Amino acid sequence: MSKVLTTCLYCGCGCNLYLDVLDGRVVGITPSKEHPTSKGRLCIKGFNLHEFIHDERRLTKPLIRRKGSLKEIGWDKALDFTADKLKKLKLEYGPDSIACLASAKCTNEENYLMQKFSRAVIGTNNIDHCARLCHASTVAGLAMAFGSGAMTNSIDEIEDASVILLTGSNTSEQHPLIASRIISAVDKGAKLIIIDPRRIPLSNIAYKHLSQLPGSDVAWINAMIHTIIKKGLHDKDFISERTEDFDKLKEAVKEYSPKRVQKITGIKPEDLEDVATIFAGGTSSIIYSMGITQHTTGTDNVLSLANLAMLTGNVGKPSTGVNPLRGHQNVQGACDMGALFNVYSGYQKVADDDSRRKFEDAYGIKMPTNTGLTVVEIMDAAGSGDIKGLYVMGENPLLSDPDTCHVEKAVENLDFLVVQDIFLTETAEYADVILPAVSFAEKEGTFTSTERRVQLIRKAIEPIGDSRSDWEIICDLSRRMGYDMAYEGPSEIMDEIASLTPIYGGISYDRLEDWGLCWPCPTKDHPGTRYLHKGKFSRGLGKFHPVKYREPDEMPDTEYPFILTTGRLLEHFHTGTITRKSQTLEREEPACFVEINPLDAKRLGIRDGSQVRVESRRGSITPIARITKGIKENVVFIPFHYREMAANKLTNSALDPIAKIPELKVCAVKMEAL
Ligand code: SF4
Repeated sequence: MSKVLTTCLYCGCGCNLYLDVLDGRVVGITPSKEHPTSKGRLCIKGFNLHEFIHDERRLTKPLIRRKGSLKEIGWDKALDFTADKLKKLKLEYGPDSIACLASAKCTNEENYLMQKFSRAVIGTNNIDHCARLCHASTVAGLAMAFGSGAMTNSIDEIEDASVILLTGSNTSEQHPLIASRIISAVDKGAKLIIIDPRRIPLSNIAYKHLSQLPGSDVAWINAMIHTIIKKGLHDKDFISERTEDFDKLKEAVKEYSPKRVQKITGIKPEDLEDVATIFAGGTSSIIYSMGITQHTTGTDNVLSLANLAMLTGNVGKPSTGVNPLRGHQNVQGACDMGALFNVYSGYQKVADDDSRRKFEDAYGIKMPTNTGLTVVEIMDAAGSGDIKGLYVMGENPLLSDPDTCHVEKAVENLDFLVVQDIFLTETAEYADVILPAVSFAEKEGTFTSTERRVQLIRKAIEPIGDSRSDWEIICDLSRRMGYDMAYEGPSEIMDEIASLTPIYGGISYDRLEDWGLCWPCPTKDHPGTRYLHKGKFSRGLGKFHPVKYREPDEMPDTEYPFILTTGRLLEHFHTGTITRKSQTLEREEPACFVEINPLDAKRLGIRDGSQVRVESRRGSITPIARITKGIKENVVFIPFHYREMAANKLTNSALDPIAKIPELKVCAVKMEAL
């Protein structure tokens, strides 16, 4: 048996592990004792990572739709057909009639090539990926406040914080190895403050768990800021030396006393005052995830957390900062690579003439100047007929996007859909052409974890069937469309990324062997960066943004009296495409459920384990009731992994005006016992 070191596929923690390979098959997993995050441990997903690789449902040959059904076809014919269709659409309707979806499941190199394909080959900035649905507001908000849209500090530093404010993250389920660092911090004496509508496993060791109404985050954060300023606990030196616009913030939070916001948030004023005082007095780290970002106020929520950190001088120092936990293993990297509608790699703006000229010189072609469409906008445009062709790499919008009935109609309306994936996803079922890709075990490349750590994945086995790496498929398609993309391998693609992307400037494969490097890593001798903004923010001065509370787009009313919030489970990953092929993980959580407070259940006559109809203005599903005091009255929770019970049939596609992230965390529903 051989052991091949690689990076886990299932979350942004970026644990390293060994694939145990016997006779050309991956038969098991061994943790890596030396890796800085995993340190010999893995969660249930990591330990069972190998179970999907040889699943008999893997796509092994290209498929084409003929007379309504999918037929096997050779690679040459599939790629020629795809290239011809895309060329015709481009000629007839223009480049902006086509859109591309990159993927947080694919490598940095593949995402980089996908944005290059979209911009240089098709000629459109209609390129985006599922970061739009999870942390687009983080990228926008932290860039506005600090100049850099990523986790400010490293995972290792969490253990030495004296106060941790954890909000909108069920960390033990979604980022288990980061949760273990939070537990270590508490063991060392840190005070853990949790603000979350649901009681989570870490609530058991928290100093306080305050349960706010979903969508009220700006109000409680402003109230904490109000309290800190009123008590004179803000860091005056830090504010005067390192920030701007404090007076605007001070004015804006005057009306947000903890007493006044209680009506909005449901949090007792004395609790909010207490945690604000504790936060201001500590080496305090803010950790958050999609409970903060997936709102029409997502950018405002992130800006508010940035305000709180700067107010108390908790940025640019070890064990502090504003730390978004990224969901997919490479969602940070896919953003870094410019698989976004408005930026090239390294967040260099499409709208900036110098940046565009730099990429035009490198790619040898004129680039589009208009900003493109985002994930939800692409689907809207497909529905209205403005987008005719869609090229999807490793994404599954039919299950991941809000209001999936609307997405289904949009996809049906396309003239041409090509999907590149390892399994026949819900989206691939609508495709005209399906291109079989390899899994992470069959290729080389890099993933960038939530702490900005760029790490290698290594090839352990040969491709299954005739499947091919995503980067090879993109290059072949590109050549057929008249733009020569040729690379020896992923390492050469990374060299091109480094030459064009200052934050990755010093990164090359030979430097990544020992547990990778955290960006910014601008030069070949730079050791990488543990925490950002030391001495100076990326944008110069940190900028306070006065933010006002706004209600969620859809509030409960007499017809739809409950707030639905959605999320993930420990055992599953995103749309379940991969984890639901794992026998062990599927056995642990095989069915969709809805969490209901006992008082609500009693009122509606719902018994634990019985079937319930949950309905919003957009659709209905019938999950099993799980009655728990862990959820607030009038709020219900449904995980979104299950195709047969798709929670996103119910969710609202209203967008944050800046980041264009949909409000997946709040919509109004009604329920009845069946
Ligand atoms: Fe994989 Fe995340 Fe679990 Fe680590 S914590 S083993 S990266 S799923």
